[in-house]
Amino acid sequence: MPETTLLISELFYSIQGESTRAGFPCVFIRLAGCNLRCAYCDARYTYESPHAVMTLEAIVSFVDGHPGIMVEITGGEPLLQENVYPLMAQLLAGGRVVLLETNGSLPIDRVAPEVIVVMDIKSPGSGMADSLAADNIALALARNRQVPGSCEIKFVLTDKNDYIWARDLVNRHGLAASTPTLFSPAKGTLDPADLAAWMLHDKLPVRLQLQLHALIWPHLSRGV
Ligand code: SF4
Repeated sequence: MPETTLLISELFYSIQGESTRAGFPCVFIRLAGCNLRCAYCDARYTYESPHAVMTLEAIVSFVDGHPGIMVEITGGEPLLQENVYPLMAQLLAGGRVVLLETNGSLPIDRVAPEVIVVMDIKSPGSGMADSLAADNIALALARNRQVPGSCEIKFVLTDKNDYIWARDLVNRHGLAASTPTLFSPAKGTLDPADLAAWMLHDKLPVRLQLQLHALIWPHLSRGV
């Protein structure tokens, strides 16, 4: 029987820097490859640098070295690789809390309800605003009806136009009422104080998110 393998950019143990679970210790499985090219991408190495081919067994063995710790599968875009599904299943079977960070361009309908999906919705400033899979907002809302909190939505914003675009989308879909919704300033592009001021002015019930790992380790771009 052929081995189940995945293309891996890096495996590491760090502080979860984003999502509503920011601040917790977390094991990261960063898959190689991405179908988007966001203007502010801080993970270009996932599609520009060499990757490793690793068996499911070897990946799970790395995770097993950190017993009881939450696991995030990220990228790149992890849903591009079919074998991410058996990986998620195996981690859940091992009793792990599993997060899947996805860029929103691929349907999330096959992701088990026990997995916490953190889904980007790409803003105009990313250059990828047309990438959102058609049903993903409806799927996110449905996931949260089935298992509350099982899908978070994240917007990375580059300027006021992005903010207004995201605010209007949140209001149009009533996102914040049922779905943890995170607004994050693009690093080095949008001043968090500006974003905070706009959110406060509009009384927008979303969470301002700063990348904790970037604040803790500003000199490191990988492995954190
Ligand atoms: S989806 Fe993520 S990894 Fe892919 S280009 Fe955009 S920011 Fe980079």
